[in-house]
Amino acid sequence: MGIFKKRSIKTLGKKKSDMPEGLWNKCPSCGAIIDEITLKQRHRVCTKCDHHFTLTSQERVQMLLDPDSFDELDATLEPIDALGFKGYGDKIKANQKKTGLKEGVLTGRGTLLGNPVTLSVIDFRFLGGSLSSAVGEKLTRAIETATEEKRGAIIISASGGARMHEGILSLMQMAKTSGALARHHAAGLPYISVLTHPTTGGVTASFATLGDINMAEPNCMIGFAGPRVIKETTHQDLPSGFQTAEFLLEHGLIDLITPRSQMRERLGQLLTYMMPSEGAA
Ligand SMILES: [Zn+2]
Repeated sequence: MGIFKKRSIKTLGKKKSDMPEGLWNKCPSCGAIIDEITLKQRHRVCTKCDHHFTLTSQERVQMLLDPDSFDELDATLEPIDALGFKGYGDKIKANQKKTGLKEGVLTGRGTLLGNPVTLSVIDFRFLGGSLSSAVGEKLTRAIETATEEKRGAIIISASGGARMHEGILSLMQMAKTSGALARHHAAGLPYISVLTHPTTGGVTASFATLGDINMAEPNCMIGFAGPRVIKETTHQDLPSGFQTAEFLLEHGLIDLITPRSQMRERLGQLLTYMMPSEGAA
């Protein structure tokens, strides 16, 4: 063993925790390092591989609706711990603080390229975008507002499915939202569902796949149960690309895939075709 010891290189550099946060982002798909400003300008799509990063509900609203047209609905509606599920109350508070939202969906009325709509955006940051009683209620009220005011309805989904802390009360929201959409449809008004990464469970099995048009972002994961559960249940190897938007487009579950950069234009175009003309309906 030497008398003198070299200082470890590791101690010379800055610690990882010294890096200012929020300036640089690493793409989880290709590993590219992208600065925050560029990423923001590109609606959080990777410059190298077109990976679509997760957007917050506020970012979605800003990206899609005409400037200053958003009028939020039911901003104060929040979840309650009806079953006394251990730790749920604390989780609600922590997620409200983290997201600045009372509940995991942001809903409101506005215009999209001049078309009157209600826009509902599930925020994946809030307990994995899970479907709770309050999320179901907010979605239903937004759909009913659209029906009443003769607006198109748009729901942007990103969800792990039903919120387990609310048990059957959460599952009931699947039927409630579906009922509201059926009434909206009967009124001759359009509903466009946009599925983003990831959309799973009870959300996939209800309103997210009930659109007159079901649209998805590229490469997003869409499914009911996860691939591991299916593999273990069926004892079969799953085909490659299973549960990606591209696979599901090929097999007819969704109608089209739209890159984020074209989303606003595409939605506007579809609404223009689908909205009933003045005096009709
Ligand atoms: Zn990338």
